[in-house]
Amino acid sequence: MPSMTGTTGTTGTHTASSLPVSDTEAHIELNESYAAHNYHPLRVVLSAGEGAWVSDVEGRRYLDCLSGYSALNFGHSHPRLVARAQEQLGRLTLTSRAYYNDQLGPFARDLAQLTGKEMILPMNSGAEAVETAIKVARKWGYLVKGVPENQATIVAMEGNFHGRTTTIVSFSTDSVATAHYAPYTPGFRLVPYGDLAALDAAIDESTVAVLLEPIQGEAGVIIPPEGYLQQVRALCNSEGVLMIADEVQSGLARTGRTFACDHEEVVPDVYVLGKALGGGLYPVSAIAADGDVLAVITPGSHGSTFGGNPLAAAIGREVIAMLHTGELQERAVTLGDQLAAGLGALVGQGVDAVRARGLWAGVDISPQLSTGRHVCEQLLEHGILAKEAHGQTLRLAPPLVASQEDIELLVTTFHTICSG
Ligand code: PLP
Repeated sequence: MPSMTGTTGTTGTHTASSLPVSDTEAHIELNESYAAHNYHPLRVVLSAGEGAWVSDVEGRRYLDCLSGYSALNFGHSHPRLVARAQEQLGRLTLTSRAYYNDQLGPFARDLAQLTGKEMILPMNSGAEAVETAIKVARKWGYLVKGVPENQATIVAMEGNFHGRTTTIVSFSTDSVATAHYAPYTPGFRLVPYGDLAALDAAIDESTVAVLLEPIQGEAGVIIPPEGYLQQVRALCNSEGVLMIADEVQSGLARTGRTFACDHEEVVPDVYVLGKALGGGLYPVSAIAADGDVLAVITPGSHGSTFGGNPLAAAIGREVIAMLHTGELQERAVTLGDQLAAGLGALVGQGVDAVRARGLWAGVDISPQLSTGRHVCEQLLEHGILAKEAHGQTLRLAPPLVASQEDIELLVTTFHTICSG
């Protein structure tokens, strides 16, 4: 049990305030002693970041190739976002939705325009936005589609990752994410990702929505077969079912387009957004949909104390403004091509496969070479931060503000590691 005096459980010698800041091991011990072990971090303690680079408590620098699971698409401490946040911090940060505030309206309008939708519903984390989409779809199903009460079903995809709430893990196929969290929320059907016939077979008159990631990020940057998103769109239209695209990780320029759905010119009924919407500064999420869908939400039927707060709205609005020039989307394409070409050359030489879309790559490490975890540890020694998505698979997502030299460094380091 933690001591009330502030001494650590295991080092026993430092209080939090007297901890030597250069002591990586002491920081790790504090984390391990007092923070639950729901992650398995690499042994590096970061203390500062700027653009695509971060530094640790010992002063070592690293190229960040994870970007907070794509929350840091604009890099660390982007001056424009920091300035806007600081300005808003000193003015007004939280009102609750019991009152209007002067930031939410402009943010909602700008995000509606970015998505081409009529309205948004703001939340905080990605999982909350997914939960919001599920609730909206069910309510739409009962009130608009006419599904008998309590019978709504949503079809989701095997290999999905939509967050960590009890309802969301209820339709996860990852046994580590689901074990011992039963009883699970009913009302979900799973089909193989990319299998249109299976999706078609799973939809019946009780189905209110199809929920999918246009590219499955946590699964290892899995890109569906060409034309699949269009086929899902057409199926949803013909069956009278909402298409919900979870773009929490794939959205906001990561794939070279504003949304991953744009690659197939597909517009879902509901966009789910998060991560980079807060610029890596603050949790900001939202769903965007047309008025006939979001009209089912009435006062008291859904909410969040922090959702749509002025600070979040101010940051989110600045993020949207930065996406308007298209520069970040172009950088994702150019740098992504460079990354895919560099890593592609390693297929058969330590790498089994590379899947890339924009500046986002899933890399399957050959079991003959190593494990995903070990490659990440080697990258760390070379000054590069990456993380295995699972087992043999790494997911690389450098900030979109990275330079060509940064990507070259990532590629050459991979070549060095693969050559052994
Ligand atoms: N949806 C997708 C596609 C994600 O990748 C994630 C997180 O990785 C989430 C939802 C959950 O977001 P959060 O961790 O902010 O709850």
